[in-house]
Amino acid sequence: MTARKKSQRSELVIVERDGAINHRPAAIPPNQRKLTFGDRWSYAPAPEASDYIKIGPRYQLFIGGKFVAPRSGKYFDSINPATEEKLAEIADANAHDVDLAVSSARRAYNGTWKKMSGRERGKYLYRIARLIQEKSRELAVLETMDGGKTIKESRDIDLPLVAAHFFYYAGWADKLEYAFPGRTPHSLGVAGQIIPWNFPLLMAAWKLAPALACGNTCVLKPAETTSITAMHLAEIFQHAELPDGVVNIITGAGATGKAIVDHPNIDKIAFTGSTSVGKLLTQAVAGTKKKLTLELGGKAANIIFEDAPIDQAVEGIISGIYFNQGHVCCAGSRLFVQEGIFATVIRKLRDRIATLRVGNPLDKNTDIGAINSRMQLDKICELVDSGLKQGAKLVQPRLRLPAKGYWYPPSFFTGVTASHRIAQEEIFGPVLSVMTFRTPEEAIERANNTPYGLSAGVWTDKGSKIFKIVNKLRAGVVWANTYNKFDPTSPFGGYKESGFGREGGVHGLLPYLTLN
Ligand code: NAD
Ligand code: MN
Repeated sequence: MTARKKSQRSELVIVERDGAINHRPAAIPPNQRKLTFGDRWSYAPAPEASDYIKIGPRYQLFIGGKFVAPRSGKYFDSINPATEEKLAEIADANAHDVDLAVSSARRAYNGTWKKMSGRERGKYLYRIARLIQEKSRELAVLETMDGGKTIKESRDIDLPLVAAHFFYYAGWADKLEYAFPGRTPHSLGVAGQIIPWNFPLLMAAWKLAPALACGNTCVLKPAETTSITAMHLAEIFQHAELPDGVVNIITGAGATGKAIVDHPNIDKIAFTGSTSVGKLLTQAVAGTKKKLTLELGGKAANIIFEDAPIDQAVEGIISGIYFNQGHVCCAGSRLFVQEGIFATVIRKLRDRIATLRVGNPLDKNTDIGAINSRMQLDKICELVDSGLKQGAKLVQPRLRLPAKGYWYPPSFFTGVTASHRIAQEEIFGPVLSVMTFRTPEEAIERANNTPYGLSAGVWTDKGSKIFKIVNKLRAGVVWANTYNKFDPTSPFGGYKESGFGREGGVHGLLPYLTLN
């Protein structure tokens, strides 16, 4: 009896759900059961230490080089989405606070930063980059606690890229004339920068580093669920003795962001976030002197040809959609598999997602952490339900998820058609929509059949095929035989409803300069 129970426990843990709305699970036929990981592959807990981290209890605004209480007098809570515990109170800046931050940035621009040589500006950026490296473990733990992403990723991907971004743009600060031969670059003035919650520090680096290198001063607003690391970055600016007011960081939600966008004394708005807010911003700055760049959503096609190395491609599918819980604007969320290898890819994908560990983001073995907020979890569930209602088939491992916190298992849909909402809308969670194609032409057509155009992936053994396909994809970034690789030297940005303007590389200087 006991033995039987035990063997049942270690059976394959995947459940397939059919399109029926009652979500009744249907077992996978025995001949398709391949791997029996069950309990046998469980890892001992390996939690990253967090007891030495000093959080809060209250974070103020960073204006004019000092931490100041908000004029609004209001605060809101930031929680740990893996535990639902309150981590700290965050200042809720109103229009008056925004005005103080903009004035401080303007004073710093006219008084110091504009006049400083590129060589001197570069020294500050190098210093900031080195301080970020020194504090990177602590910042990674904070990023994981406040946002839910795994420590594996915040430690090995986010933080190294944050430092690399500052290092890279530090190098440009004294070479701007060489970047644009025959032209004379000028800074713009004060940049208002609004960022999302999926890569809090990395998005701050993408915004601040090029703006500062080009001689602008900044007012930055992190997203309301992930403000804590931005305030620790402010401390680093103090330690680096960055002149007061060159960077101001104010916290708050949409209303605070709107106050930045509407402020008349700002020269440039840089925004990363949802397409709907991006559209509002376009209207708000129309007819003003403000320059605008938008980095919005995406629904990237990841295209697997029959001649691709399948095991590598499956790893690329995994990192394409399950990296950072799928909270990635360039996630490979629409998978196109050539018909001849469809069954093989699906079988391998099923096996592979059953090995992904979901849970405590501070555990070094965790692959998928917590969903960033209750709101985002609700959005994922709503879109998954729409997929089931519209007739797609959901595959997800049966997992024991922690009782507290926001979680979603790694999942994929088959039987998806182009008109399904799950094929059109950004789910922004660990949910993949799988479709098929027959010819390269069909792959291109289906890949481009989206209002977005941020990124794409192509997997094939043939270099010539890569070049042919890549040139026809309307996507700002295309990865060939890899996915979700980032580097500060490489420009990133979209077409169509994914926004405009580029961040990273020499292209990333342009939004922060005028050229005479
Ligand atoms: P959002 O666009 O509402 O928020 C992004 C940032 O904009 C936040 O700092 C927010 O406070 C601010 N903001 C909100 N309303 C504003 C306004 N009217 N004016 C100025 N600033 C404003 O995004 P969200 O609610 O956090 O996420 C919603 C969806 O956006 C996600 O489900 C996802 O599809 C998409 N998203 C995309 C990215 C990306 O990297 N492109 C990042 C996060 C979210
Ligand atoms: Mn939080």
